[in-house]
Amino acid sequence: MAEEKIDELREELFYTQKHGYDTIDVQERLRLEDYCEDYKAFLSASRTEREAVREGIRQAEAAGFVPWQAGMELTPGTRVYKNNRGKSLLLAVIGTESLAEGANIAAAHVDSPRLDLKPLPLYETHELVYLKTHYYGGIKKYQWLAIPLELHGVVTKKSGETIDVVIGRDPEDPKLVITDLLPHLAKDQMSKPASEFIKGENLNLLFGSIPYAEEGKERVKLAILSLLRDRYDITEEDLLSAELEAVPSFAPCDVGLDRSLIGGYGHDDRVCAYAELRAMLDTEIPAHTAVCILADKEEIGSVGATGMQSRAFECFLEDLCQAQGVALRHCLENSFCVSADVCNAFDPIFWETTEHPNRNGARLNYGVGVCKHTGARGKSGCNDASAEAVGTLRRIFADNAVCWQMAELGKVDQGGGGTVAAFMGNRNINTIDAGVPVLSMHAPFETVAKFDCYMTYKGIWAFYKDR
Ligand code: MN
Ligand code: MN
Repeated sequence: MAEEKIDELREELFYTQKHGYDTIDVQERLRLEDYCEDYKAFLSASRTEREAVREGIRQAEAAGFVPWQAGMELTPGTRVYKNNRGKSLLLAVIGTESLAEGANIAAAHVDSPRLDLKPLPLYETHELVYLKTHYYGGIKKYQWLAIPLELHGVVTKKSGETIDVVIGRDPEDPKLVITDLLPHLAKDQMSKPASEFIKGENLNLLFGSIPYAEEGKERVKLAILSLLRDRYDITEEDLLSAELEAVPSFAPCDVGLDRSLIGGYGHDDRVCAYAELRAMLDTEIPAHTAVCILADKEEIGSVGATGMQSRAFECFLEDLCQAQGVALRHCLENSFCVSADVCNAFDPIFWETTEHPNRNGARLNYGVGVCKHTGARGKSGCNDASAEAVGTLRRIFADNAVCWQMAELGKVDQGGGGTVAAFMGNRNINTIDAGVPVLSMHAPFETVAKFDCYMTYKGIWAFYKDR
């Protein structure tokens, strides 16, 4: 066969991927940059799940969404939302088709790994005051040492009043820190495995050091409690009914001299949460009703009233179905869910943990990572999307020039993980994972590529429009 012929055949038969930046024009490049500025602002305002929900509602209301109320009339284009206890958010734009034809659902989560304060966190030792923590989600504990941290959350008083607490957010505000051992004395520490550099029980936040002026015991703790009372009108007992989260004090910023990447805390999974929120706001009158979920508790198994296993999802969707005289079960079986969660990006420094990235691993700047299966040890516990589900996304992405790639969570038997996908699949909904590839996932400072952030938004927008 002539050489041109073989090239043609190769062209026809091989699956090849193009670098993302070779697939977009200047106009799209500008849209990408604008989108990523908006995302950085969202991430900056959303250091906790509560703040992400609050910011989501603020943006949704500005775009015409109203709180769902029983008895509301639903017509194509109606925009409603349901605030689930301030910690998760459900939004819908009613379509022209009946809900009996199913909904187009995108589900992301807005909780991220962090250090939660224990119920009775405050203690004094050697004239220093600390806050005890219990970590939330999968972290490498050593990464949380010797970096600036902030405290965000709420305290509910006996009266029922809930007070917002934010320490360290404003540039002039003080930060918190967990101290690390100096290398000079770290001989024993450095010979331990990384998982034992610091014990979970020792992840204590340094919170103060000046004693109260009068004589007595625990004078530093007394002085700190006085400051807390001045600032928030709370006592030590009030901390018993609180949710206070220590999070990294890193503002989202561009990374790389070419500004192609974004560094920040909580890309997992606020980068997909923002993509679907924004796609929702940009959806006018879809064919299938579009549903957007910002879930809580994914990092600890999607449990609880605000996690994706909660019936809160059925309550909301059933309300909408009832308004149209449709049975929820018929809506569910005809629905399709994109579980919009981040995947791991190929990291050349740790290349040995993933398969060759040209095959099954996601790479930075190659677009949305579609993850057929997560799981571990023989795909255990994962959703494992069907060929038809993958095919549906392929068609939508091709029709809308969405740059995408297949993603896989590391080499076989290297590790694994989960998303909300399995819990959506269990509800009799066709489900598939798709999201932004991330470097240093679950670290206090994670990195994503702007191109992939934008393509994930575009992909979910196309899904709402065309499924
Ligand atoms: Mn995630
Ligand atoms: Mn995660």
